[in-house]
Amino acid sequence: MTSSPVVTPPLIYFDNNATCAVAPEVIEAMMPFFDKFYGNASSMHFFGGQVAKHIEHARAEVAALLNCAPEEIVFTSCGTESDNHAIRGAFEALPEKKHFITTKVEHPAVLSVGKYLTGKGYSVTQLPVDKQGNIDLHELKTAITPETGLVSIMFANNETGTLFPIEEIGAICREKGVLLHTDAVQAAGKIPLDMKKLPVDLLSISGHKLHAPKGIGVLYVRRGTRLHPFMIGGHQERSRRAGTENVPYIVGLGKACRLAINAMFEENNRVRTLRDKLEKGLMEKIPFSYLNGNPHWRIPNTTNIGFEFIEGEAILLHLSAAGIAASSGSACTSGSLEPSHVLMAMGVPFSYAHGSTRFSLSRFTTEAEVDYVLSVMPGIVDKLRDMSPFYTQEIRKQAKAFQH
Ligand code: PLP
Repeated sequence: MTSSPVVTPPLIYFDNNATCAVAPEVIEAMMPFFDKFYGNASSMHFFGGQVAKHIEHARAEVAALLNCAPEEIVFTSCGTESDNHAIRGAFEALPEKKHFITTKVEHPAVLSVGKYLTGKGYSVTQLPVDKQGNIDLHELKTAITPETGLVSIMFANNETGTLFPIEEIGAICREKGVLLHTDAVQAAGKIPLDMKKLPVDLLSISGHKLHAPKGIGVLYVRRGTRLHPFMIGGHQERSRRAGTENVPYIVGLGKACRLAINAMFEENNRVRTLRDKLEKGLMEKIPFSYLNGNPHWRIPNTTNIGFEFIEGEAILLHLSAAGIAASSGSACTSGSLEPSHVLMAMGVPFSYAHGSTRFSLSRFTTEAEVDYVLSVMPGIVDKLRDMSPFYTQEIRKQAKAFQH
């Protein structure tokens, strides 16, 4: 008999952009749909009909988060599926269009689809970003040609939190007559998203970034947008996405959206205050530390700081030993010793791109946790720098002067 591995939960969790805890209210809302209301929503009998009503209620809650019509919400299995569906589905529906525009700093869920399209003979433009991770809107304008079918630009970057000006990007796309998809996986639940105001045709959300479980996502499809289905089979989701609905997870996502609507303003102000305390404290205590990303225009829960002369992986291991979970970038690319593609695209110098660490907070983060990180992090950095051949006597002297 094999025994299950012992899993020790991290004491302090600062990796909420990778995934976050499912809210207790969400778990409670989901439970009856495993063993009580387990019917198939497509069944003709009352049992299925009852379940279908709960799916529609959850759809309305997601629509309320986005201020859109419930019919514009398609449930998927995750953010990656939503991104794939949006991009591949849009190009399949527009066979005459052969040009895709995105940015160099997208999540692999978008970048990989770009590579896939390149292999199929499409031309793909990856817009560069500046030092803070912003694109040049003029460059976007001039990149659009009559061949362009779709622009996909993320709402908020997962590594730095930098926000993209989606309203202005959408206005350019409208003017040029091309569709706009935005990956809002890191924005949903953290900042208001109003589809009545945003000129966006397709938008992706992932449940596990807003306190719903892993395994549920959403693709918003503006009414009238031509889009091929990604999953084909039954007629679920108005034939937009086949497959028996994942009812407990859909219900959980609906609840998570309701919680986000009710708490967004108050909670995000609290989270922003904690994030700012953490960031300011680290940068004041640790010499040769640099903020990555746009300091003003970003989601409230994320900070990404480069610590010069040391390796991000070593920082993470030492933090982990101190009971703190953080990240050196996207969880999907961790395990590689290459510096993050996002920081490289921003032109962050190699010397501190390597030592960059992302702290991402959530509504469950406390001030005591921030204080704990502030108390251990300077010691970790000092210890690692003492072992670094790049941390010379001369630099050490400058660091001492900084600390006094
Ligand atoms: N897009 C962004 C910006 C992300 O941060 C992530 C996950 O980290 C994804 C897409 C993929 O979402 P999922 O894990 O639900 O597939």
